[in-house]
Amino acid sequence: MNMIEEAARTADGLALFLDMDGTLIDFAATPDAVQVPADLVPALEGAARRLDGALALLSGRSIAELDRLTAPLALPASGLHGGEIRAGFGGPVEVVAHAGLPARLRPDLADLLATFPAAMVEDKGLSVAVHYRRAPELRAELGNALLRYVTGGEATGVELRAGELVYELKPAGFDKGRSLRHFMGRAPFAGRRPVFVSDHPIDQAGFDAADALGGFGISVGRQMPGVACSLPNPTAVRAWLRRLGGDAWRVA
Ligand SMILES: [Mg+2]
Repeated sequence: MNMIEEAARTADGLALFLDMDGTLIDFAATPDAVQVPADLVPALEGAARRLDGALALLSGRSIAELDRLTAPLALPASGLHGGEIRAGFGGPVEVVAHAGLPARLRPDLADLLATFPAAMVEDKGLSVAVHYRRAPELRAELGNALLRYVTGGEATGVELRAGELVYELKPAGFDKGRSLRHFMGRAPFAGRRPVFVSDHPIDQAGFDAADALGGFGISVGRQMPGVACSLPNPTAVRAWLRRLGGDAWRVA
C-alpha cells in the first residue's frame, strides 16, 4: 500500500509538519486574498487530535496570520521561516530571530524595486517578501537583481529564497528544517516519525530534516527529487488529513 494511505490508516507514532500556502490552501493574487476552505479547520483539528497534538504548521507567514486562517485553532507553529515559534496549542509566541534584518535593507530594497513597479513588497518584520504574481515574467530579472544585492556585501546575514511567484529576504540560517528539529526535540513530537508536507522545493531543508529523523516527505502539486510521496493539490491534502483524523474530525 502506498505510504500516504498507510499513514492515514495507521497514524499512530507520526508527527505532522505542514506548510500553509500551496499546501493546505490555494494561492491567491495576494497573500491576504486567500480563501479559507470550509474543511481546513476540521481537517487540522481532527488530525491534531488523532496525533495527540503532534501537528505543527511551518510557514513563512507570521503566526498571527496563521491563527487568523485557522481560527479558532491556535496550533503549534513556526512562522516567518522559523523566526517565531509557538511550541504548544494556544501557547505564547516566542521570537527566535532577534537579530533580524539589517536596517538599511528596507530603503535599499525600495530603491532597487523602483524599477519593478509590478512587484509588491510585503514587510513581515522578521522577513520581507517581494511578490511578482502580477508580473510572472519578472522572475529572472527580479531574482537576479535581488541576488546581486544580497551577495554584493551591502546587506550581510541576509538570505534570498525563491518561492511560488515570490522572493523572500530573511535572516540567514533559519529554515523549516531547523523548525522541524526544534519541535521534534520536545513533547508531544519527540519520539515520533516526522512527516513534512510542502508544495515547494524552497522547503528542501524541511524534507531533509524529516528524512534524517526517520520520517518522510509529501510534496504537493509536483514530484520532487528525493521526496517519497506526493499529493496533487491542497484539496487532496485536506482530504488526506480528514482520512488521517478518522472519526475524530466528524464532530460537527
Ligand atoms: Mg508553500
